[in-house]
Amino acid sequence: MKTFKLGGIHPPESKLTAGMPIVALELPRRVEILLSQHIGAPALACVAVGDKVVRGQMIASPAGFISAPVHASISGTVKAITTVNLPSGYTAPAIVIEADDEQHRADEIARKAQIEADAKPADRSISEDFSRDTIRRLVSEAGIVGLGGATFPATVKLSTKEGAEPELLLINACECEPYLTCDDALMRAYASNIMEGIELMMKASGVRRAVIGIERNKPEAIAALRNVLDPTWPIEICPLKTKYPQGGEKQLVEAVIGRRIPSGALPASVGVIVNNVATAFAVYAAVCRGRALTDRVITVTGDVPNRGNYLVAVGTSIKEILGEIPDDCKVILGGPMMGRTAATIDTPVTKGTSGLLVLSTPYRREEQACIRCAGCVQACPMGLEPYLLSTYGRLRMWDEARQALVADCIECGSCSYTCPSSKPLLDYIRIAKSTVMAQIRAEKSQK
Ligand code: SF4
Ligand code: SF4
Repeated sequence: MKTFKLGGIHPPESKLTAGMPIVALELPRRVEILLSQHIGAPALACVAVGDKVVRGQMIASPAGFISAPVHASISGTVKAITTVNLPSGYTAPAIVIEADDEQHRADEIARKAQIEADAKPADRSISEDFSRDTIRRLVSEAGIVGLGGATFPATVKLSTKEGAEPELLLINACECEPYLTCDDALMRAYASNIMEGIELMMKASGVRRAVIGIERNKPEAIAALRNVLDPTWPIEICPLKTKYPQGGEKQLVEAVIGRRIPSGALPASVGVIVNNVATAFAVYAAVCRGRALTDRVITVTGDVPNRGNYLVAVGTSIKEILGEIPDDCKVILGGPMMGRTAATIDTPVTKGTSGLLVLSTPYRREEQACIRCAGCVQACPMGLEPYLLSTYGRLRMWDEARQALVADCIECGSCSYTCPSSKPLLDYIRIAKSTVMAQIRAEKSQK
């Protein structure tokens, strides 16, 4: 069974919500929609306080090529353009919309109809007539970003140069993070729509072959995809060994085609574009159904009574989704390995929110001295020396951290997970990495 070679770990999968169907949460009465939900320049508000907006309407426009528009996820009135809480405890600009009663009911009816339409097999004839440029434009206008967590504007990846197209579109369907099952649920429910999205991405980018990389711990999703795959299509399903972090871009490329992406380079350097499976679904929805990215599927899991896979409107309050939870709980946005602990849950769902993990028991043991076991080195899928990088971060030795390739760290957390001394390796590595990345960006901008 294919997998990546270097490092990797096998944490308990804890997929408590596997097999649970996607349930659409009611549209909220109030949303906070962040202007920056993507990598790149924050979008620019194009509505004013007091304006009436409808669901799906663009309310902030992209501020450059690497940027993305944002859209109203409910119909109503713009109540404020202000700063709201981020999970980190910082604040950021957002547009606050409050629902209009009559339009709210109409939105719910239209949304139910959309869900029913999506449940039917995708009609391939709808998308056949779209040109490469039209698909890119529709993807851009819909505000689609990478939904696997990277939130890179999707249209940028699809904007390949004619005559110099990559040879492979690699669909990341690994969902290797413990606990998360939103992609699994999406594949089980919407396999044919996802295939359609993949075909559209291939057409938009001029790539002639696609492979779906999926861990073998999702047999129902693999079966659903196989069931709709026409053998004449240039799309292949590649089941992979279950190993974390299989869904890391570099690890996935190596696992599927055996090519190593050089330090500091992108998958395009080895002829590959990588996109998440949920992004493929969003592309289908944008092109075939004319829908902007106003909703996404998230997993709510851990120590909460309302575990499940939910379709939620972007901008919904996380506090509202979780309901009553004890004060001493930890809430992690994303999975336990790469997710971030929320300093506050009084913050909205964004395009990049894949899951809410609630843990009621402390999960970090007391830190001990390093016993030089090299466990962290063996676990690192990037071939780094995590104990050293962490020390550089703690001692603010930025030059040394840079030389030791801290910028290559994919923040997978395998080192911290493995450490028998419970050292918070990744916490310090992140500090060093963010400082070094800021240096690199500053140097590039001066050139
Ligand atoms: S977090 Fe970084 S240093 Fe630690 S194992 Fe992952 S890639 Fe290696
Ligand atoms: S895993 Fe922990 S104890 Fe072992 S070498 Fe790395 S930092 Fe030290």
